[in-house]
Amino acid sequence: MSKIKVGVLGATGSVGQRFIQLLENHEYFDLVALGASDKSAGKTYSEAMQSRWKVSPKIPEYAKNMKVVKCNPSDTPDVDLVFSGMDSDVAGEVETEYANAGVMVISNSKNHRTDDDVPVLSAEVNPEHLDVLNFQKTSGKIITNSNCTIMGVTITLKPLMEAFGIESVFIVSMQAISGAGYPGVPSMDILGNVIPLIGGEEEKVEMEPQKCLGKVVDGKIKSADFKISSHCNRVPVIDGHTVCVSVKLKKQTTVDEIKKIWNEYQGEPQKLNLPSAPKKVIDYLEEKDRPQPRIDLMNGNGMTTSVGRLRPDPLFDFKYVVLSHNTIRGAAGAAILNAELVYKKGLLRAK
Ligand code: NAP
Repeated sequence: MSKIKVGVLGATGSVGQRFIQLLENHEYFDLVALGASDKSAGKTYSEAMQSRWKVSPKIPEYAKNMKVVKCNPSDTPDVDLVFSGMDSDVAGEVETEYANAGVMVISNSKNHRTDDDVPVLSAEVNPEHLDVLNFQKTSGKIITNSNCTIMGVTITLKPLMEAFGIESVFIVSMQAISGAGYPGVPSMDILGNVIPLIGGEEEKVEMEPQKCLGKVVDGKIKSADFKISSHCNRVPVIDGHTVCVSVKLKKQTTVDEIKKIWNEYQGEPQKLNLPSAPKKVIDYLEEKDRPQPRIDLMNGNGMTTSVGRLRPDPLFDFKYVVLSHNTIRGAAGAAILNAELVYKKGLLRAK
């Protein structure tokens, strides 16, 4: 069976290089096009990545000599699907061009997340939201990932919402430097420091989980009706967003019951045995001082959401800590898992 031909837009960035790493020898997808800005276009991937490859010791052999091109459908004529990891200043328009050209887009950028016929898809959380693709007007369809900070949080909220209902959520994030792209935050600003502002982040964090956990009504996504309040902070950690969550539920339950529900949680990717699906969606760590980015980040190859410190909360009902890998589970890995799901459901075919 021939593989689906895919491209990566924004291939030279923090998220882009994760795509290159994770798509090597992929069972369903063949990476045939790398797109970036005019600055990188025309160079080989190795030339464009001088000193910028950070995710492993070496650029994978298969990508080194691929030519980087501009991000538009005429420069990438062969692709059936593009993964987008482009700067959000340009991503929205370029993604629409691809969709108009009949190419499926799976995006990590914020631009289309608020469109009510575009799913904010988290494969284990809301696969039924793929129904709205039938209502998009373009011949190629657009799917987005959620923001990396709330990816793991939403995964933990899904089984809680199903079992007990959610009243409200309070979030404090400690977000890694790689979340700001490369070169990102200057070292003089972040070393030995905490920056209590990430522009635009709290707005996304306070809105996207409800969309992810919403329902499809008449071809549009109707968000779930609970409120979130958040504080988002940048901390001197390279990879891995840690989030402290307090949650008020609609029904009473116990710490033990929640741990059991989390540890047993499985989604459609696990049932379909998709290549990037982690065996454990949520891993509850019983150690008192976990999860920690340095120790737990690569749990489930960076695709498992690590959770710990579940305890009663005097203001809400329960509080806990979530860790997820921002460029794997929060970006490239989740986007690839979404594409695997779409492919396995027969919504994506080779030209
Ligand atoms: P980044 O490291 O700054 O990379 C940005 C990419 O966009 C580069 O490949 C860059 O190419 C390309 N680009 C910039 N201007 C362009 C243009 N005019 N036309 C085409 N390509 C252009 O950023 P990142 O962290 O990878 O983030 C990429 C996207 O994913 C953003 O929308 C971000 O919000 C989102 N995201 C990031 C993370 C994370 O943890 N980093 C997680 C989830 C979502 P050049 O190298 O040629 O300039």
